[in-house]
Amino acid sequence: MSKVLITGATGFIATHIIKILLERNYQVIGTVRTIEKGEEISKLFNNLNFKYSIVKNLGDSKQDFINTFKENPDIKIVIHAASGVFITDNIKEYIVDPAINGTQSLLDTIKEFGLNVNCFIFTSSIGAIVTPNLRNNSELIRNESTWNESTWEQSNFHPLIAYMYAKTQAERIVWNFAQNNENFKVVCINPSYVFGPQVFNEFVKQTLNSSNEVINTLLRDGDNYQKTTAHWVDVRDVAMAHIYGIEHENTKNKRLIMKEGAMNEQIILKILNENFPQLKGKISTPKNEEILNINEWDNKNKLINETTREILGLKQIDLQKTVIDTVQQILDNKVYDF
Ligand code: NDP
Repeated sequence: MSKVLITGATGFIATHIIKILLERNYQVIGTVRTIEKGEEISKLFNNLNFKYSIVKNLGDSKQDFINTFKENPDIKIVIHAASGVFITDNIKEYIVDPAINGTQSLLDTIKEFGLNVNCFIFTSSIGAIVTPNLRNNSELIRNESTWNESTWEQSNFHPLIAYMYAKTQAERIVWNFAQNNENFKVVCINPSYVFGPQVFNEFVKQTLNSSNEVINTLLRDGDNYQKTTAHWVDVRDVAMAHIYGIEHENTKNKRLIMKEGAMNEQIILKILNENFPQLKGKISTPKNEEILNINEWDNKNKLINETTREILGLKQIDLQKTVIDTVQQILDNKVYDF
């Protein structure tokens, strides 16, 4: 079976993608930042078809990528999933440079050393679709052909806006490469907030990957939970979209917006209160009027992905199942004294 290189093999989404790739007998090379992380993730996957390669820092990764391709000249498919996500300090070093330089270095290396590569899947974001300062405008429709037009100056050192800017610039590098290399299949996957269980219980801790923190805060932080209103999607659907991108020709040169619906923390609190009676009195109760506001918000922040849904034909996981599966795993692992 084909050999796939996937960057950021320890990540939340990447582990789900790798799990499916291994189930389908692909050979997988996952990049990790240290030998210790490589050994740990190899042990967890426990599959001879999984090997790791070291890419210490995407921001300065050319030589590491060259080494990876020299050791694996038979790589046919590349999934670029690694990125710094919503880190709050030193935005340039942790978010922007890794996103932009990492993507450019990887593509440059493929051009020079990845002579067998014919498919490149980029894990982008709706951050590359939605312009942050044009939010809350019901006249605007965002879809697969829309771009985030914000500039670095406008990111104003706000981590989320800088992250969105970085993902946009990285995705533009990918499409520029696609234009000049028409024999390559390029697919960009643009997820909204990604929720869902971890592949490995070992990754279930008091602090989770940044998007699952939207759910975790409701368990951990009592009435001081973090507030979020956003579009969302389940990680298992996002992972499957990557596989679909590899295996189906109708995804060639497409951007796929991964969104199931809109949510806020009150809707999640409602699901938690209704489905986990043991949490009553230990977590907040939902404010019903704020649940109703979600339709108004969704209308002002239209994100249309009909084209993606037609291409993928996936029946996506709903919010209730996503939240229940995520929280059940946290409770099963006794992360908190509930
Ligand atoms: P995680 O934080 O779980 O994983 C990120 C991965 O990237 C980790 O393996 C991490 O390694 C690696 N990484 C981060 N910075 C660097 C760096 N400078 N050099 C080398 N490796 C690095 O993120 P997710 O799984 O949530 O996200 C995966 C992808 O999906 C990202 O590209 C993200 O932008 C995109 N995405 C995610 C969304 C979400 O809601 N989660 C929504 C939309 C897009 P280590 O752990 O060792 O630091």
